[in-house]
Amino acid sequence: MKWPASGIVRRVHEFSITQTIVQAVLAELKKVQPSRLVRARIVAGRLHQLVPATLTFAYEVLTKDTAASGSVLSVRNVPITAECRQCHWRGEIRDALFACGRCKSGDIEITGGRELYLDSIEVEQP
Ligand SMILES: [Zn+2]
Repeated sequence: MKWPASGIVRRVHEFSITQTIVQAVLAELKKVQPSRLVRARIVAGRLHQLVPATLTFAYEVLTKDTAASGSVLSVRNVPITAECRQCHWRGEIRDALFACGRCKSGDIEITGGRELYLDSIEVEQP
């Protein structure tokens, strides 16, 4: 495979995360054998800045020739949320500037968006 140099670091990030996900999926799948895996659902906080298309591509590559081959990966994104230590505002951080949505202070605590886990798997009886 030929990838532009600038994109390699990004993709390594997604591949290493997806590798962990695939291991978790295969471990879960083992418990419900001989069912066939249809879909794996993960929850991913936006702080991880994962590119969905790269995740699904990595998933497809990494599940090839495994019990999870042919299944689909669904990603549910969790927004980045924060609480301001100055005015106690709580809300979603939508731009690259991590600041309070009310008083614009940078003294905020990130309360959401770090999530990254396998939520559930959907199987089909053989
Ligand atoms: Zn504030």
